[in-house]
Amino acid sequence: MNKLNRLYALTLRRTFPGTRSIALARYLHTSNKMSSESNDVKWNDALTPLQLMVLKDKATERPNTGAYLHTKDSGVYHCANCDTPLYSSNAKFDARCGWPAFYEEVSPGAITYHRDTSLMPARVEICCGKCGGHLGHVFEGEGWKQLLNLPKDSRHCVNSASLNLKRD
Ligand SMILES: [Zn+2]
Repeated sequence: MNKLNRLYALTLRRTFPGTRSIALARYLHTSNKMSSESNDVKWNDALTPLQLMVLKDKATERPNTGAYLHTKDSGVYHCANCDTPLYSSNAKFDARCGWPAFYEEVSPGAITYHRDTSLMPARVEICCGKCGGHLGHVFEGEGWKQLLNLPKDSRHCVNSASLNLKRD
């Protein structure tokens, strides 16, 4: 296995710690009750049930199913709930982890970071900086910077359901 493939395998294990056979259903309602921003949030009526489950209840869409997984179009990814710009397509890269990956947010404060202890080891949850909608998790220091020549060694593992791409 070459270095890149080893990193892909490691990435998958870090994103979903535990054995590969764990049913994804187990994650579908893995919500972090510690974070309660959702109490005052207005949820957009146009959101699909899946989008609401992800953004509000912090569910994770099934891997390799998201609308933006393989998207290479140029534009800005906005919050599907409140329309805040979150990620530039320039920061998107292929981590083969089953979800869209970005190395940084579009601007400081666009997203917020929260400690998520719902699975061990603890992960860092990322949310929309404006409405608090759940986006996914961020993983640091996995080696992407060196391997793919990225400016930062961060992988923002984001549910497509949380995003709305506005193409240039
Ligand atoms: Zn939002």
